[in-house]
Amino acid sequence: MPSLADLKQALDLRREEQLWRKAPLLESAQGVLIQLEGQEVINFCSNDYLGLAADPRLEEALIQGARRWGTGSGASHQVCGHQSPHQQLEEELAKLTGRQAALTFSSGYLANLAAVQTFVGRGDQVFQDRLNHASLLDAGLASGAASRRFQHRDYQQLEGLLKAPTKGRRLLVSDGVFSMDGDQADIQQLVTLAEKHQAWLLIDDAHGLGVLGEAGGGLVGQQFSSEQVPLLTGTLGKALGSAGAFIAGDQLVIDYLRQFARQYIYTTAQPAAQACVTLRALRVLQEEPERRRQVFNNIAYFRDQALAAGLPLMASTTPIQPLLLETNERALHWSQALKAQGLLVMAIRPPTVPKGSARLRITLSAGHSRQQIDQLLEALLALQASESQGVSLG
Ligand SMILES: *Cc1c(COP(=O)(O)O)cnc(C)c1O
Repeated sequence: MPSLADLKQALDLRREEQLWRKAPLLESAQGVLIQLEGQEVINFCSNDYLGLAADPRLEEALIQGARRWGTGSGASHQVCGHQSPHQQLEEELAKLTGRQAALTFSSGYLANLAAVQTFVGRGDQVFQDRLNHASLLDAGLASGAASRRFQHRDYQQLEGLLKAPTKGRRLLVSDGVFSMDGDQADIQQLVTLAEKHQAWLLIDDAHGLGVLGEAGGGLVGQQFSSEQVPLLTGTLGKALGSAGAFIAGDQLVIDYLRQFARQYIYTTAQPAAQACVTLRALRVLQEEPERRRQVFNNIAYFRDQALAAGLPLMASTTPIQPLLLETNERALHWSQALKAQGLLVMAIRPPTVPKGSARLRITLSAGHSRQQIDQLLEALLALQASESQGVSLG
């Protein structure tokens, strides 16, 4: 049993190591301009890439959805919580991702647990990119399968691991877009390796969905078949501005999950009104491709300017544009200095990222104006200049 003194000691250590996390308290809806602790700030840290999280049409869908379907689903899907909007949403998500079927979950964390734990267990093996999302890493550990991790996008090392003969099933797991780096897995290489070494492939497309691919179907959706990528997960709380998540795949795979995925069976279905919001978001995605174009315009502009100015940008072509600052102190200092100027950018520190790779995780949205991006760039350049002049970090 841990004593309270143990807990306090661990908390003190967190503070000393500059790892203390404090949730910023928003006094407004999500968006590019938010109200934070009495101050209006420009938000560069949400995953609301298309600016849909407070779209009036989605809000209306929630209101109308609640009037029609109530506020609570009242039960798990298999008992009596599965309502028409859930059903319709599953069909639409299957269509968007070019799959036969889909199954919804109340969060991406749960969907990933289900996608791993339902298919592998003791005696099996899970192969993971080291930088996979925590939910995938946790899922592998919780499954009881042996976890094999390879260096980030090091597919040669992965092949070495896959060559070792093993009994049992093998599941190869990767983020599509890496959430703290913004770079992408080489899906084609993963598909080839999975085929060659008789492994199943699971791709988590949380940050690709709605942004990448033809019509926003993600990094995998229309580009790779379900034979190539049998398990595909995505989240609805990022680009789609809603909440929840899904697994998409062949009908047989989805039927199996419906019968055996504990994370689907033993939890209350998300409110149908939330499914109404996602359905509305999918329509916006289809009808307004300019949102996706705009986010890419913003990414290109930000990268051109930042690279020309010599800022330590990481290699990413997605809305996640991290600035590698290495130490926790430096990342915190930059984040605080930006906040003082009305710019919200999160410092990401270990254990979310490897030690020595603390960073600012800048995210861009279709909703950012050129002027707002310029404001961020100017502030970043000033910070860089003040460091190179040796101005104290005080
Ligand atoms: C955010 C995220 C998740 C978790 O999704 P939630 O719906 O927020 O629980 C899973 N995988 C990746 C890569 C993510 O970025």
